[in-house]
Amino acid sequence: MDYISTRGSAPALDFEGATLAGLASDGGLYLPREWPRFSEAEIADMAGLPYAQLAARVMQPFVGDCLTPERLLELTTIAYGRFAHKAVTPLKQFDEQHWLLELFHGPTLAFKDVALQLLGLLFEEFLARSDRNLTIVGATSGDTGSAAIDAVAGRDKINIFMLHPHGRVSDVQRRQMTTVLAPNVHNIAIDGSFDDAQAMVKRMFNDNALTDRFAIGAVNSINWARLMAQVVYYFAAGLQLGAPHREIAFSVPTGNFGDVFAGYVAAQMGLPVAKLIVATNVNDILHRALTSGDYSAGTVTPTAAPSMDIQVSSNFERLLFDLGGRDGALMRDQMQTFDSSKALQLTNAQRDGAAALFASARADSDAMSQAMRWAWEKCGELIDPHTACGLHGAQNVAIDGKTPVVTLATAHPAKFRDPVERATGNRPALPARVANLFDREERYAELPGDYAAVTEYVAAHAIPKG
Ligand SMILES: *Cc1c(COP(=O)(O)O)cnc(C)c1O
Repeated sequence: MDYISTRGSAPALDFEGATLAGLASDGGLYLPREWPRFSEAEIADMAGLPYAQLAARVMQPFVGDCLTPERLLELTTIAYGRFAHKAVTPLKQFDEQHWLLELFHGPTLAFKDVALQLLGLLFEEFLARSDRNLTIVGATSGDTGSAAIDAVAGRDKINIFMLHPHGRVSDVQRRQMTTVLAPNVHNIAIDGSFDDAQAMVKRMFNDNALTDRFAIGAVNSINWARLMAQVVYYFAAGLQLGAPHREIAFSVPTGNFGDVFAGYVAAQMGLPVAKLIVATNVNDILHRALTSGDYSAGTVTPTAAPSMDIQVSSNFERLLFDLGGRDGALMRDQMQTFDSSKALQLTNAQRDGAAALFASARADSDAMSQAMRWAWEKCGELIDPHTACGLHGAQNVAIDGKTPVVTLATAHPAKFRDPVERATGNRPALPARVANLFDREERYAELPGDYAAVTEYVAAHAIPKG
């Protein structure tokens, strides 16, 4: 399988190349040249497979010749063996129509573990084939950082530099990153906001002084391999609820449009998806784009669901590219317009294509609290504020009564204990796998919000590409 850039001018790469590159050299994002499609019989044949086997089956067409089916299954078995639930992503029933897909049983309590546990193994596998060393740089508002650090800590030929805004992530989130003391893990608390950290990281990808010496890699959802790994749980849930013989709707708490784009990919591959509900908090650029065709960024409002406090949804570019006839030149123009004016208009083809599969909903803080209370009082389930946005969407978008609606539970409620306690009167306990988090030693560097200071630190601690 070949991977092409959404902006049309970067060279096509194989799966290994796209995984290590992260961002395409023309500024675009990599996508498979075409969508692999399973027949109804092939999907029916997947029912009942253990998660690691299902994952290998769903991902094999994307991996192509870069891994044998046997090796891919070995890697998925290792990655998903680290989850605290045998089903990996168990499905719970709320009522006749509504279901909850729990994606937070990985080591760091958010759905990002599902993809990053595998990505860490893929990096190590591909780097072992060459003399290359990889320098991963990332910015996090919490969940990506801890999941990525857990996935690569102690791995050969990889160093990770994770920037977080000093004092602006929760204690649980910070400690999940800073108590990992492996020598290849470098946590940096910078003075400034998440956006400042993110802007520095983007600059590093285009900084020749760095890229000449170091192979810079990405762990956020611009990396295709992350989305690929997330397609699997749409199949897992769909198969349990009657696919391929019945349609399923999904409601997805959304920030960077990565998780819900994985649902779009599952639909392209033949899973019968009735609707994908794009659930946002008050940072609602996607809700506005899908209802009015106007994709324009506002300013970020902090909410109780910080991993969705995003105004620029990187992966939306992948959808616009696919719906716009895969026209790299059109994408380059649209994204240039967006970069200069912070707004772009969807074409008619993009609007109609999106409307066929997507619906959207926006949850303010009252709606989030209400959803948390409903789950607790009606079903005895504590859900986190991100999941609450998803449940709000599931309950407020009209879906045919015969179609099951699955809300994706993207974080464990213990990761966001204060808002959960405020809404429900119940303080979720930390699960056993992180119970000693507050007894562990922390280590991180504190740097000013200054690009030169941060790159100097990276250059001093990274390993040249080789
Ligand atoms: C990252 C994250 C999201 C948003 O996912 P996207 O793929 O960026 O849309 C939602 N909920 C939680 C808990 C997250 O960590």
